[in-house]
Amino acid sequence: MLNALSFDIEDWYHSIGSISFEEWDRYEDRLTLNLNKILPVLDEYNLKATFFILGYIARKTPEVVRMIHQSGHEIAVHGYNHKLLYQQTPDEFREDLKRAIGVIEELIQDRVIGYRAPYWSINKQSYWALDIIRQEGLLYDSSIYPIKTHLYGMPSSSRFPYRIGTTADNPLIEFPPSTIRLCGSNLPMGSGFYFRAFPYQLTKWGLNRINNEGHPALICLHPPEFDPMKPKLKMRTFGGYILHYYNLSTTLKKFNWLVQGFKFGTIREVLSGMGWLIC
Ligand SMILES: [Zn+2]
Repeated sequence: MLNALSFDIEDWYHSIGSISFEEWDRYEDRLTLNLNKILPVLDEYNLKATFFILGYIARKTPEVVRMIHQSGHEIAVHGYNHKLLYQQTPDEFREDLKRAIGVIEELIQDRVIGYRAPYWSINKQSYWALDIIRQEGLLYDSSIYPIKTHLYGMPSSSRFPYRIGTTADNPLIEFPPSTIRLCGSNLPMGSGFYFRAFPYQLTKWGLNRINNEGHPALICLHPPEFDPMKPKLKMRTFGGYILHYYNLSTTLKKFNWLVQGFKFGTIREVLSGMGWLIC
């Protein structure tokens, strides 16, 4: 079973809500350092992954995006400003998306077809975003987490890839991050904080269970999660500290085990293999 491997390409300060977009240029760049831990592992196992690029990164460090693209990985879009969708108006979101697509496509001289919202922030309040994503020419989305947290999630949405959106002849494909069904609820499995926090044996068991159900898993990781030395900022809550700093020293080791134990490709490859994308 071919599973999908993805990364959100942002730096350590982009997902800290107390740091505004206007302040980003002041902070230390650690993205290249962390990509230099991830890309050699992908090369070693001859794996290709999908990289959802923040438009700001494409503008600030274009050489990083070019390097990923030239290595044969899929380039997709993670917006420009990394703002929660449900805190934007539809017009603001469309502008942010167009700006990100523009800067990324100009840089790689290639078309992008996939989108992921910052903080998985498509939910009932921001469901309108799906129409805009399709109207702007993208073919798949990967933003709807079928769990519920204080920040994101739609627990009743499908756990596996599905067609969604406006008209039957112009659907968008949704590829949600993986979960397993346990005691009547969905438990997140294999992405971000959950990958770091859970013992690898639990992740392995969960992903095997998803594959045994006949479905591909979708993994999403972030370069700052590979960085135990990232700057320690004072967090407003203990939960925030755990979310950003817990178990960072285990990610690279677990990631090596993951790519040894499962077969991975890009989201585009997985959806094409299912006959859902022809491109
Ligand atoms: Zn992000």
